[in-house]
Amino acid sequence: MSLLELADISAGYGSFQALFNVSLSVEEGETLAIIGANGAGKSTLLKTIAGLLRTAAEKVRFDGRPIGDLPAFERVSLGIALVPEGRWIFPSLSVHENLLVGAHSRRTGAWTTDKVYELFPLLGRIRDHQASSLSGGEQQTLAIGRGLMSNPRLLLLDEVSLGLAPIVVAELYRAIPAIAASGTTVLVVEQDIGQALKVADRVACLLEGSVALQGLAGEITREQISRAYFGM
Ligand code: ATP
Repeated sequence: MSLLELADISAGYGSFQALFNVSLSVEEGETLAIIGANGAGKSTLLKTIAGLLRTAAEKVRFDGRPIGDLPAFERVSLGIALVPEGRWIFPSLSVHENLLVGAHSRRTGAWTTDKVYELFPLLGRIRDHQASSLSGGEQQTLAIGRGLMSNPRLLLLDEVSLGLAPIVVAELYRAIPAIAASGTTVLVVEQDIGQALKVADRVACLLEGSVALQGLAGEITREQISRAYFGM
C-alpha cells in the first residue's frame, strides 16, 4: 500500500478548473518531485493533499485511510505537513517560537528543536531573532524547520527555491536527503528541473492540470521532461 494515493482528482477555484483527473501515488520513504511550468497546477495539488482544498473522502488516501474531506489541521495530526509557497511564518515571534508553533500537533517523533538546529545550524545561531528581521533564505529555512516540528510522515514542500539566491537554494536542498533519511517521505514542488532531479527518486510532471509524465528520476530523459514540461 502506498503512503499517499490520489485517485482521479479534479480541483479548482470557483468555476476555474486547475486539475483534471490527476491520479498519483507516493511510496513511504521516497522523495517525489512534482515539476511543471507556472500555472500547471502544482500548488493546487499540494493544497488538495494538505486539505486547503477538499475533495470526496476516498479520492485522497493516506496510509489507506480516506482523508479527502478532512480539514487541514486534522491532516497535520495524521502526519501531513505543508511548507507553503510564501512561507507564512509568524513575523512577531522569534525563530525558536516559530519552531515551537510547528509542534502544536503534539505528534511525537524524531524532530525536536535541537534536531532542527542540528540540520540547519543557521537557525540555531539566530534562534532569538524576531522572524520579521530574517532574510528570504532564513525565512524559508525556518518554514521547513517548522514543518518538521510536526513530525510529519509526509512533508510537502512548495517551491522552496522561489526567489532565493542559488547558493541558498543549494543549502536548502542539501537538507532534503537528510530529512528523507530520518524516515520522512518528501514531496517537493519545483520549477527548477535540475534541482528536482538531484534530490528526487521519482518525478511527476504536470502540464495544464494533468499528469504528463511520471517515472524514476534516473530513468526519464531530459527530452521526455522537456516535452512534458512544455507540452511539445
Ligand atoms: P506556480 O508555479 O505559478 O505556483 P502552479 O503549478 O503551482 O504554478 P497553481 O498555483 O496550482 O499552479 O495554479 C493553477 C491554476 O489555478 C493557475 O491558472 C492559477 O492562476 C489558478 N489559481 C491558483 N490559485 C487560484 C486562486 N486562489 N483563485 C483562482 N485561481 C487560482
